[in-house]
Amino acid sequence: MQISVKTNARTQMIDITSQVQKVVKDSGIKNGLVHVYSMHTTAAITINENADPAVEKDILNTINKVIPWDDHFKHVEGNSAAHIKVSLFGPSEIIPLENSALVLGTWQGIYFCEFDGPRNRRVNIKILSDE
Ligand code: ZN
Repeated sequence: MQISVKTNARTQMIDITSQVQKVVKDSGIKNGLVHVYSMHTTAAITINENADPAVEKDILNTINKVIPWDDHFKHVEGNSAAHIKVSLFGPSEIIPLENSALVLGTWQGIYFCEFDGPRNRRVNIKILSDE
């Protein structure tokens, strides 16, 4: 199963928790593991706080400071900063599924992380049932 994510900035974190929950609900699977996977080399998946929007801003401000867009990179496409960020964040997360609910802490949300937008993106969601 895949979901679409439309981004509208070069770097951006988009909370996709409710979209993932919908895919899980529609699957009818109640227990197992949910694999959420970005099918891109310049966009990642992470889990972090979705209560205070300032956390997203702080993460993006910091990662953009640590890995500036232009740092004399060799890659001809000119988007090495995005590739490096994805390798640091990772392309996927695995979330436990119990009694039809994603096992997330009170403050945790699943984020799609755009590092070379704006673009239309795809996220693959695979549910492994242990029933
Ligand atoms: Zn590239």
